[in-house]
Amino acid sequence: MIPFDFEYYKPETVEEAIQIYTELNGKGKKPLYYGGGTEIISMSRAHNVYTEAVIDIKGISECNVQGLRDNKLIIGSAVTLTQIAEANLFPLLGLTVQRIADHTIQDKITLGGNIAGTIIYREAVLPLLISNSEVVIASSKGKKQILLKDIFDKRIKLSDGEFIVNVIVDSSFLSVPYLHAKRTKSDKIDYPLITLAALKDNNRINIAFSGVCSYPFRSSSIEDYLNDYSLQNNIRINNAIGNITEPILSDLSGSADFRKFMLQRMLTEVLEKLGGTN
Ligand SMILES: Cc1cc2nc3c(=O)[nH]c(=O)nc-3n(C[C@H](O)[C@H](O)[C@H](O)COP(=O)(O)OP(=O)(O)OC[C@H]3O[C@@H](n4cnc5c(N)ncnc54)[C@H](O)[C@@H]3O)c2cc1C
Repeated sequence: MIPFDFEYYKPETVEEAIQIYTELNGKGKKPLYYGGGTEIISMSRAHNVYTEAVIDIKGISECNVQGLRDNKLIIGSAVTLTQIAEANLFPLLGLTVQRIADHTIQDKITLGGNIAGTIIYREAVLPLLISNSEVVIASSKGKKQILLKDIFDKRIKLSDGEFIVNVIVDSSFLSVPYLHAKRTKSDKIDYPLITLAALKDNNRINIAFSGVCSYPFRSSSIEDYLNDYSLQNNIRINNAIGNITEPILSDLSGSADFRKFMLQRMLTEVLEKLGGTN
């Protein structure tokens, strides 16, 4: 049971959502934008989230689009992981979201919720980072379109009252060679020990990780080491792993050393499958 009462709003436009947020925030109601609600509900039950009002963005048409327009794929932030997998317009993203939680919860979790949520893995971010995707962010000042990588540093940096409207992927990334790999402690359905997403972009491998550190990331120096064709594969991989500057996660799922061992094997697979062998 959720241990507090809260108001529920379902605006039909971006502007209405922002206006409702501003009013509720002014009254000190700590409003939250509401996508699938899976995290808000589970964390409220555990006393980790408190709000007096939620603003459900599922009634906003811009947040529900999914399709190609002018050589760009646009996916609304309220589109569920199931809808993304079924449409399969960006196969790497489709594969990634099918391995988040289970089928029942994928029907609820939204793309925006996975990107902006507080649970550290945020696996849907990986294909978006390596395809240089953009996000449209709404605020009281209007809408801005910005590269995800410019606003994502460990987590998406949203100012008070801002929310993600949709995500834009250039269609050139929808048909390039790619690889998704997720390793968990035991069951297929679990948080990642390590998840990686990689694709081939103009003969270079772009790659991003979740589960390695306490946040998802793409690193240009790791990509440089992996794409250094003058070196043997094992040296490229060791250089890449040796240059992870932040602490590698060590938790009940696996120690840092085990994660490094796992990463070595997964990166070998990346070089083999994406033609990066020398
Ligand atoms: C059982 C379970 C298993 C999970 N397994 C995985 C996993 O394997 N891998 C993984 O990566 N994640 C996993 N998650 C995390 C899940 O993807 C996130 O909790 C995600 O936030 C849920 O999406 P939602 O749409 O339900 O978010 P909500 O509960 O609606 O919102 C979560 C947070 O995001 C904010 N938010 C939502 N939409 C927007 C938006 N458009 N713009 C700005 N802020 C927004 C909300 O205000 C809130 O703070 C799991 C979660 C659960 C409950």
